[in-house]
Amino acid sequence: MSQPRTVTVLGATGSIGHSTLDLIERNLDKYQVVALTANRNVKDLADAAKRTNAKRAVIADPSLYNDLKDALAGSSIEASAGADALVEAAMMGADWTMAAIIGCAGLKANLAAIRQGKTVALANKESLVSAGSLMIDAVKKHGTTLLPVDSEHNAIFQCFPHENREYVRRIIITASGGPFRKTSLAEMATVTPERAVQHPNWSMGAKISIDSATMMNKGLELIEAYHLFRIPLEKFEILVHPQSVIHSMVEYLDGSILAQIGSPDMRTPIGHTLAWPKRMETPSESLDFTKLRQMDFEAPDYERFPALSLAMHAIKEGGPRPAVMNAANEIAVAAFLDKKIGFLDIAKIVEKTLDRYTPATPSSLEDVFAIDNEARIQAAALMESLPA
Ligand code: NAD
Ligand code: MG
Repeated sequence: MSQPRTVTVLGATGSIGHSTLDLIERNLDKYQVVALTANRNVKDLADAAKRTNAKRAVIADPSLYNDLKDALAGSSIEASAGADALVEAAMMGADWTMAAIIGCAGLKANLAAIRQGKTVALANKESLVSAGSLMIDAVKKHGTTLLPVDSEHNAIFQCFPHENREYVRRIIITASGGPFRKTSLAEMATVTPERAVQHPNWSMGAKISIDSATMMNKGLELIEAYHLFRIPLEKFEILVHPQSVIHSMVEYLDGSILAQIGSPDMRTPIGHTLAWPKRMETPSESLDFTKLRQMDFEAPDYERFPALSLAMHAIKEGGPRPAVMNAANEIAVAAFLDKKIGFLDIAKIVEKTLDRYTPATPSSLEDVFAIDNEARIQAAALMESLPA
């Protein structure tokens, strides 16, 4: 039997983290867990570390170090805490690392994992949006295998002519349209966080669920796809497909279109990256085409979903714009979840932050963090000035 593959999960207590651990735990003879990380959920982290016999568990919030130590008492699992400990966990040399921290907060650890020159499965799209060029340069420099976990990007990866990108006529990124696909602007103005997190097809963490409701998620994904597949922006198209069974498509020069299809379960793309270049069994349900009955398609509505246009402009303008947009969006989504602003204010805050703040193009990680930080401050200040 071959040696178990060593794996690390950054963001082990989130939605993607749980799905990843579900697959790993079904195959503990094949995978050996090096490190698991979380932000504040000590119990969930310690339980997962014990179940998988991880070498190390890391909690990002340093004030929780003793709690983690207590929760791991009696086991030989190492405990560590703080931002540097996250980066150290990413540098323990696992063969495969799942990057599933949410937001730009994952950027440092992701880059550290990329610099190991092994395989990184990337779910954390915000880091690629804010620091795409830096991350892709590091992937090239260190000979890292970067595998996309986001279902659309994983679908494109499976259909893409990696050795002949000139064969691509068009990449069609599908979008469910989210819970407000048919909701009027007037009604959207009054929706609560509880309602906005209810995604029709996917079960996900709160932030990405709100991004799906504003369709900023699709904007972030366009930018993510641009960095991952390096084809001209005008070759990307966004298509609303409410059933979420076609996860995305690649059209070739001759008119052939390859699609990756399956039931909406993140364990399919995660399993694809975990076993790659082989395949593994996952518990994802087989798609029953007879029950599906129909597949619908429509163009996105840029008027009701202005976040989509903001993202398109941001990537067209390039430079610091995507990082500013992402930071403002993270702040605005958190404020909406806290009931401090309305649903439609999210895109307004992002737009106003982009209007006000135009820093120089970042050329280092420090530059990206400085832009991210200042954009958050500006977005927060703009929120204070919103009419009550
Ligand atoms: P989530 O909120 O459920 O989990 C986030 C994880 O990150 C948790 O383990 C949390 O402890 C950790 N975390 C949060 N803030 C942190 C911080 N400041 N420092 C260190 N760790 C921190 O999120 P999720 O839905 O699992 O999404 C994770 C990433 O994957 C996001 O970038 C998201 O866009 C992407 N993604 C998610 C899905 C999905 O189905 N959930 C699909 C595609 C892409
Ligand atoms: Mg997606």
